[in-house]
Amino acid sequence: MSASASDCLFCRIVAGEIPATIVHSNELTVSFRDIHPQAPTHVLVVPRAHHPNAAALAAADPDLLVEVMRAGAAVAEREGVAASGYRLLFNTGRDAGQTVFHAHLHVLGGEPLGGLAQ
Ligand code: 5GP
Repeated sequence: MSASASDCLFCRIVAGEIPATIVHSNELTVSFRDIHPQAPTHVLVVPRAHHPNAAALAAADPDLLVEVMRAGAAVAEREGVAASGYRLLFNTGRDAGQTVFHAHLHVLGGEPLGGLAQ
């Protein structure tokens, strides 16, 4: 783990160097809208600290992983999808489709999502 990585897109969003539509933030996490939404609500929750994926985050700082999950639930409440249901998803590694190697929780909802895939 490192506090930030200069070549990491989501570290740069956390630092405010790249614009994003932020919907929630606190001391430990930042939540912003996905640039290519796959559902009416599609928000990414990232820890401010850099961890390459959710498994690495769980190993290094399990309390922070819990904070990411809590922020995801808070986002679902704010977005108005908590009652109807939503999906919390971590793509972990290349075969899962992970493209940004800073741990991020997808919060998807706002319509029936079907299936298991994003
Ligand atoms: P992954 O495929 O790694 O699980 O998810 C990465 C997500 O980041 C994708 O859903 C993609 O649309 C989103 N994304 C990629 N670049 C940007 C960006 O510059 N800004 C925002 N807000 N989202 C991005």
